[in-house]
Amino acid sequence: MFSAIVGHERPLRLLTRILKGDRLGHAYLFSGPDGIGKATVALALAAGLLCTDRKGTTPCGRCPGCLQFASGNHPDFLHIAPEGASIKIDRIRSLKRQLAFSPFCGGVRVILLEEVQSLRREAGNSLLKILEEPPPDNLFLCIASDSAPVLPTILSRCQMIPFAPLAHDQATDVILGQSPDLDRDQALQLARITEGAPGRALAIEAGDALALFGRLASALADPRLRGPAAVEEALALAADMAALKEELTVLLGLLKTLLKDALLVGLDRRTADADTDLAIKEAWRIRERWNLSRLSDKMNAVEYAEKALAGNCNRGLVCDVLILQLMSETEPLESVV
Ligand SMILES: [Zn+2]
Repeated sequence: MFSAIVGHERPLRLLTRILKGDRLGHAYLFSGPDGIGKATVALALAAGLLCTDRKGTTPCGRCPGCLQFASGNHPDFLHIAPEGASIKIDRIRSLKRQLAFSPFCGGVRVILLEEVQSLRREAGNSLLKILEEPPPDNLFLCIASDSAPVLPTILSRCQMIPFAPLAHDQATDVILGQSPDLDRDQALQLARITEGAPGRALAIEAGDALALFGRLASALADPRLRGPAAVEEALALAADMAALKEELTVLLGLLKTLLKDALLVGLDRRTADADTDLAIKEAWRIRERWNLSRLSDKMNAVEYAEKALAGNCNRGLVCDVLILQLMSETEPLESVV
């Protein structure tokens, strides 16, 4: 199972040593950015530990432990994720009751806890009591995103295993593996904008933001789009943008990446022809249409829109103003939101 995982060489080396030597700690904390594969690695580790006929780190796939794990019904695998914003205290209390019994299958019980950084103090203290005196034959795999700090008391009871984002080509491979309909350039673009987090990339790919981004990028790059046609297309784009929900922030992030690329292309003296990356080619077309001053105005307009949305300004108005500034060939409009 580890062999199927892309990247994460250091954590996997460590976990392989643990699996092969069977010198398990009782609690590990996998930490790192969202969407980079921490849970995937934790599940592969659990699969290995719950197989009763394992060769090295690879589960056999046939024993009762493997079959139960694959069907999601292994009695010694507890998967606890937040309901709502965080894992509730009641869930930790019921975990404590479950741990009063020895593992059912006589091996180790694996408890996978997701988003441990979101634990509130009361639930965190309850978990801490369990981690301070863990019943034997239980392994806690805690997963924490680096979006918020983990309670220090919990940290002190776990062995830390830090995870880093994937390299862009690795993330591209993961994205293509899950979403084979994408072409490689699209997958690479997703890998870049999510900074090596294929989980986040796949969530974006499933939504409408990516298609709309494609239309926006073409409108920005097309020098023939001027006058009334430009205004008409701009208003249509603005309406579709305003209809996006949480994905609107993703779309603004994509736009910033594109504009940053457009500001930077050519600085390393490479020419448009030398770049094979589709996203960079698009950036070149945009750079050829707009001068640096206009591009920097457009970047400011996107950053201003991000702030306006965070301040709960009217979405429709923010999108109208942003798009008109993006398509504008003149000095920036006075801000009206
Ligand atoms: Zn097995």
